[in-house]
Amino acid sequence: MTEYIMEYVGSSVMPIWIDEEKCTGCHRCVEACQTDILLPVNGKGKAPAVVYPGECWYCGACVMECPSENAIHLRHPLMNRARFIPLEELGQKGREV
Ligand code: SF4
Ligand code: SF4
Repeated sequence: MTEYIMEYVGSSVMPIWIDEEKCTGCHRCVEACQTDILLPVNGKGKAPAVVYPGECWYCGACVMECPSENAIHLRHPLMNRARFIPLEELGQKGREV
């Protein structure tokens, strides 16, 4: 049995959220993550812990590898979700803002 010793590292972002109801604890996401953010600290069959959220690259590998639909969610930072529109496309209304 592998033992893990780690400390949670605080972060202002929480990029990964795992729905423990849907997660089967297969830990394929743990293997997929290149930055080792996810660790199987709760043992086999349990959802992994997100231990270093601030190190996430938002690559989506963990989500793509997960066999359980909607078990793992990637929440991009607000800035990445913004859609920039040229002022010309906004017309007069955009110029008034
Ligand atoms: S999005 Fe990428 S870097 Fe972030 S936890 Fe998933 S696999 Fe790791
Ligand atoms: S790959 Fe999906 S089902 Fe498997 S441990 Fe990760 S979140 Fe849970």
